[in-house]
Amino acid sequence: MSKIAFIGLGNMGRPMALNLVRAGHALTVFDLNPDAVAALKEAGAKEADSPGTAAKDADVVVTMLPAGQQVKAVYGTLFDSAPAGALLIDCSTIDVETARMVGSIAADRGFAMLDAPVSGGTAGAAAGTLTFMVGGPDAAYGKALPILGAMGKTIVHAGQSGNGQAAKICNNMVLGISMIAVSEAFAMGEKLGLDAQTLFDISSKASGQCWAMTSYCPAPGPVPTAPSNRDYQPGFAAAMMLKDLKLSQEAAEASGASTPLGKAAQDLYQRYCDEGNAGADFSGIIKMLAGKA
Ligand code: NAD
Repeated sequence: MSKIAFIGLGNMGRPMALNLVRAGHALTVFDLNPDAVAALKEAGAKEADSPGTAAKDADVVVTMLPAGQQVKAVYGTLFDSAPAGALLIDCSTIDVETARMVGSIAADRGFAMLDAPVSGGTAGAAAGTLTFMVGGPDAAYGKALPILGAMGKTIVHAGQSGNGQAAKICNNMVLGISMIAVSEAFAMGEKLGLDAQTLFDISSKASGQCWAMTSYCPAPGPVPTAPSNRDYQPGFAAAMMLKDLKLSQEAAEASGASTPLGKAAQDLYQRYCDEGNAGADFSGIIKMLAGKA
């Protein structure tokens, strides 16, 4: 049993933290939004009034924050308040550069730190079946395994600090592009007189099969747990997907990689967000592509 500070209890952080409580860990939690901590308090976690207070006696600190800006701000406080030797695990999706910078400050201050972004969505977070992509030192990775194992099923050490984020933005570039591809296909199928279930039954068993279709179908019906069946309530907000696509384009530019479809996906998500859908699930882009937004 570890004493864990968990900071950032949104769509992902809340179910992840609940799984740590269920695994028998003692949690102290903090979120800027007081409503976000209610489910954790009910499950037996303690509420702190700041990230620093949450971390002051912790063996392990887990953060699940929106973007690099919040990660920099929160770790600025944590480095002054977490006990020496505490293991720091940032599960947020952020840019590689910030992850490496924060990881390097952590090492200078004597903390073991990992970047450990996740894939699997809110359903994976609730079921404890997330995939973790982890960057950072071997020893820290070994210590983190039992903690990550309470929240996920597949845990991969991707190498040095920042490599978890590198894997995540590559993965999410695939996801953004494939969600648009699946959406275009289902929108076109409808115009061609194919109902969504029929196209799903065929394509999910054929070469068009992919996660965006079989686990998260943007057309309502075929995948009952998908946000398409609850009017595209997130889930994974379009603003978050746009953030990840921007991160992948920045990384492409910095590394000299050619990613024309990644750029097209970013432009389409920018348009979808600009049209007032930033808070909707990212799979709702099917409505824009079908001319129904
Ligand atoms: P969210 O917006 O639902 O949750 C973020 C939480 O962080 C909010 O509750 C917010 O109040 C809190 N917060 C913001 N700034 C804070 C601060 N300074 N101190 C404490 N709390 C603060 O976002 P989410 O969907 O849970 O995503 C979190 C991260 O996980 C993002 O980086 C996202 O890209 C990534 N991610 C999300 C999904 C998904 O399906 N939602 C999947 C994989 C990865």
